[in-house]
Amino acid sequence: SLQGKRAIVTGSTSGIGLGVAEALAAAGAEVVLNSFTDTEADHALAERIAHAHRITARYIPADMSDGAACRGLIEAAGGCDILVNNAGIQHVAPIEDFPVTQWDRIIAINLTSSFHTIAAALPGMRDKGWGRIVNIASAHGLTASPFKSAYVSAKHGIVGLTKTVALEAAGKGVTCNAICPGYVLTPLVEAQIPDQMKTHGMDRETVIREVMLERQPSRQFATTDEIGGTAAFLCSDAAAQITGTTISVDGGWTAM
Ligand code: NAD
Repeated sequence: SLQGKRAIVTGSTSGIGLGVAEALAAAGAEVVLNSFTDTEADHALAERIAHAHRITARYIPADMSDGAACRGLIEAAGGCDILVNNAGIQHVAPIEDFPVTQWDRIIAINLTSSFHTIAAALPGMRDKGWGRIVNIASAHGLTASPFKSAYVSAKHGIVGLTKTVALEAAGKGVTCNAICPGYVLTPLVEAQIPDQMKTHGMDRETVIREVMLERQPSRQFATTDEIGGTAAFLCSDAAAQITGTTISVDGGWTAM
């Protein structure tokens, strides 16, 4: 059980982050939800999770494109035992047309935010002699696809950061790992479909089957529950010696 552990999950108002927060709450952890907005719905979501799992849950707004805000999130939570770096965005374009502002935003949110949150959270974990850092990378942290230069670069970067932090934390009860999902049907993926339809000149069903799930031999999307379950496992005692590595949840993508 993760009772007595405080988990912070960045970008957790939807998709994978929400699935991970629910799985950690189900295992008994106190959870801190995060996104960059600060609406009634955000706080209501935390209340719903607290009620459903009989745990403490809070929503703390912080923009993961802003380094000071990333560090501020860890501080505002009052420290953390489990840090899940999940916030992420995507943009799809050929490199010669790739907007510089999109490149900078993707590197900031998908990679640099984790540098800041880990730097803020790791000393407290080391002091306590227990901690779990789980970075949500991607199959694109291990392989590439055309037109996703910033995303692939950031996700390869987070895999490198994962290994480095694991070494800096080794032997201190703190592990750092990355989960590499294949395609999970979330709002982020939904938003890619029109772009992909345009880029490839295909209809929705064809783009899903031939382009998106073309690399995923199962031809099935992974679910947010499955990613949550993997994160909960990495936070368990059974995973104490799993560190500095990646776990793929990709229907066989990286086996090809
Ligand atoms: P999503 O769009 O459903 O959720 C992203 C979350 O991040 C949202 O809660 C959003 O509010 C938050 N967010 C965005 N910008 C933020 C910012 N500046 N500050 C704070 N929060 C911010 O996306 P998702 O598909 O659930 O993706 C979550 C993570 O999983 C991302 O890192 C993504 O790269 C990764 N991933 C997704 C898939 C997939 O198929 N969906 C596959 C591999 C990896």
